[in-house]
Amino acid sequence: MKVPVHLLPLMSAENPEQKNATGEYFFQMEQPIPSYLLSLAVGDLAFAPVGERCGVYAEPVSLPQAAHEFAQTEEMLLAAEALYGPYLWGRYDLLVLPPSFPFGGMENPRLTFVTPTIIAGDRSLTSLIAHELAHSWSGNLVTNATWNDFWLNEGFTVYFERRIMEKLEGPAYAEMLHSLGYQDLLHTLEEMKGTPGDTRLRLSLENRDPDEGLTEIAYEKGNLFLCHLEQLVGREKFDAFVSHYFRTFRFQSMDTARFVLFLEKELLNGNQELQEKAKAQAWIYQPGLPPGAPAPRRGPVCESGGAAPALAGGHPRR
Ligand SMILES: [Zn+2]
Repeated sequence: MKVPVHLLPLMSAENPEQKNATGEYFFQMEQPIPSYLLSLAVGDLAFAPVGERCGVYAEPVSLPQAAHEFAQTEEMLLAAEALYGPYLWGRYDLLVLPPSFPFGGMENPRLTFVTPTIIAGDRSLTSLIAHELAHSWSGNLVTNATWNDFWLNEGFTVYFERRIMEKLEGPAYAEMLHSLGYQDLLHTLEEMKGTPGDTRLRLSLENRDPDEGLTEIAYEKGNLFLCHLEQLVGREKFDAFVSHYFRTFRFQSMDTARFVLFLEKELLNGNQELQEKAKAQAWIYQPGLPPGAPAPRRGPVCESGGAAPALAGGHPRR
């Protein structure tokens, strides 16, 4: 890329960190990625490291606040690796976008793009970073084969995000995130009463705009299904299964049918009783929530049925 010399270009690849005198930059990306993860940005940007493998790019005026807000990124990365295996992308940096960026974050490999609206000053909205980081495994490493399988990206990522936050902030914090997410899910299910088919985990988006599948269903119903599986087999066994899943299918695409086969073989071990309790077919191919779906211990908000406070600064996650 060639850019005016006062600007710095960045990509979802190995990045330069500093401007040079020529304005010419070459980018290299060793790992294979799906096309939706290829991204670039150009701006008056500066870099600040926040850890050994982590740093922040932002406009110089907002760089100090951004570096303060995201100071726990390396700790999140270590927590994620302790859960589900090594981070395979080299660096993990953040790029702070202008407020017009319409999402909370986008998990471009090596360089997550984030909205500046999560810079609250007290690190209270950084679960979004845990979310985008978790995509380095669920989504970027094992990628949904089609947008009908979007829940494989997002359900796993929400589950993983909350496990990272549990390690950093404790179980009560993770429980709060679950409660907020659960209220969002109930609200979404109510809103989608007229289109129950779209509350299945496995979507049918043929001849439709893929954005129509971007609802809380993939995120929160997907997460709830994984919580249900964890409760069924116990955390230790479930974690071993998730690690095994990421390791087995890394740098590959995954669709729902293949996932179900892997689940039945590797977690449920062909055990009839476990399979009946797992209710995978109902969770994935039926609308709404199956009977006995796990509910967070208590919902601290939304008793009146109104919308719960949005997570991550009011922007939809990606
Ligand atoms: Zn996501």
